[in-house]
Parts: sequence; C-alpha cells; structure tokens
Amino acid sequence: MAAGGWHKHQDKNLLGKNYEDKIRPHIDLIDSLRSLGVEKDLALPAIAVIGDQSSGKSSVLEALSGVSLPRGNGIVTRCPLELKLKKDMGSTEWRATISYQNVTESLDSPGKVEEAVRRAQDNVAGTGKGISSELITLEIVSPNVPDLTLIDLPGITRIALQDQPVDIAQQIKQMIKRYTERQETINLAVVPSNVDIATTEALEMARKVDPTGDRTIGILTKPDLVDRGGEKEVVQTVQNRVYVLKKGYMIVKCRGLREIQNNLSMEDALKNERAFFEEHDEFSCLLKDGLATIPNLAEKLTTELVSHIARSLPNISYQIRSKLRDAEEELNAIGRGVPDSEDEKSQFLYAKIKCFSMAITHVMNGDLDGSTEDLKLYKNFRNFFSDWEKLMKNNNKNFLDELRKEVNICEDRCRGRELQGFINYKRFEDILREQILEFKKPAVTLLHSVKDLVQRCFKNEASKCFDQFENLHSSAVDKIEGLSHLLEQEAMTSVELQFTMEKIIYCQDSMHSSALRTEGGAATPTIGLLVQQDQVQLSKDELICHLQAYLKGVTNRMSNQIPLIIQHFMLREYAHKLQDQMARLITNNKQFTYLLEETHQISEQRQRLKDQIQRLSLAVKRLTKFSEGN
Ligand code: GDP
Ligand code: MG
Repeated sequence: MAAGGWHKHQDKNLLGKNYEDKIRPHIDLIDSLRSLGVEKDLALPAIAVIGDQSSGKSSVLEALSGVSLPRGNGIVTRCPLELKLKKDMGSTEWRATISYQNVTESLDSPGKVEEAVRRAQDNVAGTGKGISSELITLEIVSPNVPDLTLIDLPGITRIALQDQPVDIAQQIKQMIKRYTERQETINLAVVPSNVDIATTEALEMARKVDPTGDRTIGILTKPDLVDRGGEKEVVQTVQNRVYVLKKGYMIVKCRGLREIQNNLSMEDALKNERAFFEEHDEFSCLLKDGLATIPNLAEKLTTELVSHIARSLPNISYQIRSKLRDAEEELNAIGRGVPDSEDEKSQFLYAKIKCFSMAITHVMNGDLDGSTEDLKLYKNFRNFFSDWEKLMKNNNKNFLDELRKEVNICEDRCRGRELQGFINYKRFEDILREQILEFKKPAVTLLHSVKDLVQRCFKNEASKCFDQFENLHSSAVDKIEGLSHLLEQEAMTSVELQFTMEKIIYCQDSMHSSALRTEGGAATPTIGLLVQQDQVQLSKDELICHLQAYLKGVTNRMSNQIPLIIQHFMLREYAHKLQDQMARLITNNKQFTYLLEETHQISEQRQRLKDQIQRLSLAVKRLTKFSEGN
C-alpha cells in the first residue's frame, strides 16, 4: 500500500493550510471521547458503513485497513465494529489492539485480526447467529493506513436463517438506524455497481434518515462485474447525476473471490485496482476526477471526517458542558450518599432523624401545611370537629322535635306507678342517657378519621425524609402504624370514660337554670316543684325544656371534650412518642448500616451520575486541552 500519499490534493478550506497536522488531533480527540464512553451521553461524529449483505462492505474496510476481516456467508458482522485506523509515519511497525467489554488484547500481526474479531463477536453476541449492539473496537496503528475511524455495522438482511431470531432483519435495521439517524454520523452506503442502485436497501435506509443526502456518501463496488453496456449508467451515478447525494460517490474495486483464493496480497490488489481504472475505457475518467480507487476514497473519507469533526466541535463542547451541569445538579438533588465510618454514619442518621422529628413538630403545630387537600391537617380537623358538633346539635333537635310530636310523653315515657301529672326523675335521666349514648358511634368514627389523617400526614413526612433509605423508611412506617394503633386504643379508653361519666346526669345549678332561661323562653318552668322524692310534676313543655337545656350543656361540653381527647392522643402523644421512638434508633449502633442501606435505584442512580460526571469532566479537560493546542 502506498504510504504517505493519501492526503495530498483535497479541499481543505475548513482547516486551512496546516491540514495535515490537524487530521490526527481531530480524530484522536473524538476517539478519546468515544473511549471515555461519552457516546452514552451524546452522539459523536462517526462514519458508519452500511450496505446490503455481500455488497462488499468488508472488502472496502479490508482495503482501507490493510487487514483481513471475518468474511463468509450470512451475517458475518454481528456487532458494531469500530475500526480506528491511525497512520503512524514514525514507525514501520504494525500494531493493533482489540477491545470489548472489559477485555483488551494486543495483536502483533495483521493475520491475527480476523480470528480475534471472530472471538470478540462470539463473546459479545454469543456463538450463534445472534447480534448485539455492544461495540467492539479494533485499533490499528501503522504507516500504511489512513487516519480514519469507521464503524462497520451488520449487513442488511431480508430473511432470517434457521438458527436466527425471526426478527433478525428488524433487529439489524434498528441497530443500523441508531447510528445512521444521528446527525453526527456520515453514512457510507456501500452498493455494488452491478445492481440497480435504486433498489438497494442501503441507499433506501440512508435516504430515510438523511432525505437531503447531506451526510451520505455512496460507494460503488465490484466495477469489474458490471455487465457490458451498463458502464455508462455507473459512470453517471458516480458523477452524481442519477441518484444525487450532496457528498457524492466514489467507486472502488476490491479483491474478488478468485483473488482471495489466490492469496492476492492487499498491496497487489491496490495495484490491480489502479491498473483496472487506468485501463478501463469508460471508468478511467472517474479516476482522473479522483472519484475512484481505495486510496482516493481513504483521503476523501479522512477529509470528510475531519471537517465534519471541526464543524461539530462547538456543539459537542456545548452539549458536554450542559450534560455535565445537569448531572451535577441531579447528583446534588439526590445527595452525595452515606459516609463510611461508624461515627459519621451515626451523625448522618442523627441528622436524618432530627430532620424528620422537626417535620413532625411542624405538622403538629400546623406550621407545615400539606401539599394536597387530604394532608392539610388543621383544615381537616376544623371540618371534622365542626361536623361533629353539628351532628350532635341536629341529633338533639330531631330528638326534641320527635318528643314534641308525641302527645303523651309524660304518660308514656316518663311515668311509672306515679299519679297522673307526676314524672319519675329516674325515667327522665334514662331518656337523657339514651340520647347522649347516640353520640358514641359518631365519636368513634371521628376518632378513626383523625387517626387516619394524622397517620397519613406522618407517613408523608417519612416518605419525604427517608425515601432514599428503604429500611429506615419502613422502620419509621412501622412505628407510625404501631403507635397509631396503640394511641387509638388509649384515646378510645378516654372517649369511653367520657361516655361513662356522661351517664351521671349532672349540671351546676347556676348553669342549668341559666340554660333553662335561654332555652325555655315562655315555657321556662318554675324550678323546685318537687313533690315527692324522685318525682316532679311538670307539664310536657316544661319537661322538654329541661331536656333541651341539659342536652345543650352536654353538647357544648362534648363538642370540645371529644376533639380535645382525640387531639391529645392522636396528635400530641402520637407525635411525641414517634419522635421518641425514632430518636432511640440512634442509640443502637448495630443498626446503622442496615438503616442507612440505600434504595437500590438511588445507589444505582448515584453511581450512574458519578460515572457520567467523571466521564464528562475528563471530556471537558480533553476539549480544553485540544482547543489550547489548536
Ligand atoms: P459484505 O457482506 O458487504 O461485507 O461483502 P464482502 O466484502 O464480504 O463481499 C462479498 C463478496 O464480493 C466477496 O466474495 C468479495 O470477494 C466480493 N467482492 C467485493 N468487492 C469486489 C469487487 O470489487 N470485485 C469483485 N469481483 N468482487 C468483489
Ligand atoms: Mg461483511
């Protein structure tokens, strides 16, 4: 292969007259960004080789790289193969490295490449006929290669073989599309000269992702197989007059089957190629225009790639910096993670628990109003409690209205063995007790509602404070649930005690008489008509008036008392006990590690972000160094 002469007479406007000096740094910069894994974050300039099966892709790549690549029937290229060609004029030595997954292998002769690529593919995509989108990188350093990085993609197939997944064609197209649709990719569409160009899948796919043909280069292969009479059409195609692409076409002749079988060397193949074009009646004009042969192709590709890189750099730099900023912000948002030493861990846990404890205090004091309606604690309290009061008042009113309708309450309900007109006081008390007992069920319902509400609010705070720590979070939730159960029982005992006390029909004289006056109006009974022990002589109106006055007192008392009991247990005690139990977690140092175990997603996300930040920071450094050097 002719060394050194590959970059002689090209359009180098973009890079100025020191073009030769700028080739390697530009390509190296992108290669180094790619090897940092920056392609996970953004697309990098690349040349992707696409073509139908047996169109001659591998042959072109072989000719460019000077090494044999795996060939054979069916899908030979089963993973994207990044071919980094580096011209090194300073040495006569040939060197290569192949790397994939965590493997890096050095190769000392071109003859070993084919086997190494096969092995790499088997490792990455399995030994069957399956494909993988994982990248294999083959780097070749030699004085006889152009400066170029190309990505070889599996050939486009139409039909799956027996031992292939049925959707193999689809899978391959997807993979090709992933590379070719990026604006950063130059698509090299390899098409045999002896087929109708319009029918090739490769150009069709390229056209789909690049309708204006801005970044597609057509490569015609197998010019020696063109049928007699077909040459004119080929010439016109290469001259870009048939199927127009902005970047145009090149035509190359590689080793045919026979030449390979005859072990024709790559160097001789290049000589043959040159001779073929020089001697060809119709195609020689293409050589004169620089549109034919592998060396001219190499030069064109290098120029295209380098100017493409130069054009893309500002945007790459912008994207890398903004992605880096985003990643740093995201990492800050999820926190830097748990410290390692036991001492720091306890501090860390202490801070977390203190933060939660403060949140609980805020909830209790109503400082922190929940974000959603069902988390607004005091607003909901007010609604619950005023409903409770209304319910008692309504209930009393209905009860008294019913009584008023009854003709003979004094006879039916309140009279035992007494003479007509007398009312038994015990019966009077029983009527009240019965009515007061009506409030018990609603009081219990009220307790449940408050319990649910407060529990919801506490759990919400726990989620906010501990969402990164599954174990700590579930420990808090356990306590929230356990305590709510316990305190509900305590509250229930107090509510029950209240109702038990309400069985004592009692009211201070001054208060009862005052209530009688306000409630009774005209029907205010004269107090003290006690005629006989336990028996009072009352009119129906007077009786109702007494009931009404007493019930009003009860309602006033209970409308405060029950909410007080409930708030005492279900909010204050609940909050204090919860804070207490959480604080006790800090005293048990055996649990630190367990409690501070992070949620899987969080630690994964943090690791991903840290990797990304590391990669992008390095990328920024390389970009900075590059721009200083140019
Ligand atoms: P791929 O499937 O696209 O990688 O195609 P290959 O590079 O494996 O080529 C398919 C067949 O075409 C091989 O047998 C090559 O030797 C042959 N071939 C490639 N280029 C030429 C060419 O320019 N002339 C001739 N006669 N045969 C070629
Ligand atoms: Mg191939």
